[in-house]
Amino acid sequence: MNVIEHKFNEDESSGEVVPDELSSSTMSRTSRRFEMLEKTIRRSTGKAIMEFNMIEEGDLVMVCLSGGADSYTMLETLRHLQRIAPVNFELIAVNLDQKQPGFPEHVLPTYLDSIGVRYQIVEQDTYSIVKEKIAPGKTTCSLCSRLRRGILYRTAKELGATKIALGHHRDDILHTFMLNMFYGGSIKSMPPKLLADDGENVVIRPLAYCREGDIKKYAAAMGFPIIPCNLCGSQPNLQRQAMREMLNQWEKTNPLWIRSMVTAMQNVVPSHMMDRSLFNFNSFKVETERNIEGDTLFDSQDKVNNEQNVVKFV
Ligand code: SF4
Repeated sequence: MNVIEHKFNEDESSGEVVPDELSSSTMSRTSRRFEMLEKTIRRSTGKAIMEFNMIEEGDLVMVCLSGGADSYTMLETLRHLQRIAPVNFELIAVNLDQKQPGFPEHVLPTYLDSIGVRYQIVEQDTYSIVKEKIAPGKTTCSLCSRLRRGILYRTAKELGATKIALGHHRDDILHTFMLNMFYGGSIKSMPPKLLADDGENVVIRPLAYCREGDIKKYAAAMGFPIIPCNLCGSQPNLQRQAMREMLNQWEKTNPLWIRSMVTAMQNVVPSHMMDRSLFNFNSFKVETERNIEGDTLFDSQDKVNNEQNVVKFV
């Protein structure tokens, strides 16, 4: 491990998973369990940043701050990594005030002033556009997100930001993966790092390895001034909700499945799928020299059942 890897991966000694019995209630920030939880989140974030080369020397990282637990946790963790990482990078928090009724405009500026983080509040009434275009009772999130994305990309360019950091975590990535598989007919999710469609913005998801449950507990313990995400009055996306409930159930009964799914997303074997654009099934070259019997990929149930193979990270 080089010095950069080491520094983004500080607290190597901490446990990877905060045991549930240690994290079932709001914890004191001076407690041992809080210390473990914070180390886990910092370590997972550092690991994701390092493995996907998310942040480089001289970056200006635009941290998208919605006022939810995820984005506060991302900002706090990036601030910590900024202090200890061997690469120099700057942070600027950006909040998009979408003019939802009852949005408490003062909350984020007051918080950001109190911690001394540079920020920009962008005011744009996407709420009215969404209400006008989407029939009452329908889910408004996809149009809302599209509008928000466009504004954030434009803001990043105006600010000269080289990376746009979003607060999606491991569970968001898994929900999206399953939604696409069950309803979208494709194997894809939210990548930890993405070149945006405009070809100019690089989106990063530093919390890609962090568990939603850990983030919620951390945010509660930190006392972040959470802004509720239902001000827009949007109906919940029932398909996403179904994925969330299924994964939550698995987390309780078969946590290894969840961890294996995350590992599987890094272990794709195109020759054993059915996507002809990823693997050329037309031009196999038969080799007579190889001394392997059968196909090793189908080999052993032992491999499938071996926890070491399925769990590479939190
Ligand atoms: S919950 Fe409301 S604010 Fe959030 S994405 Fe959906 S429509 Fe937009």
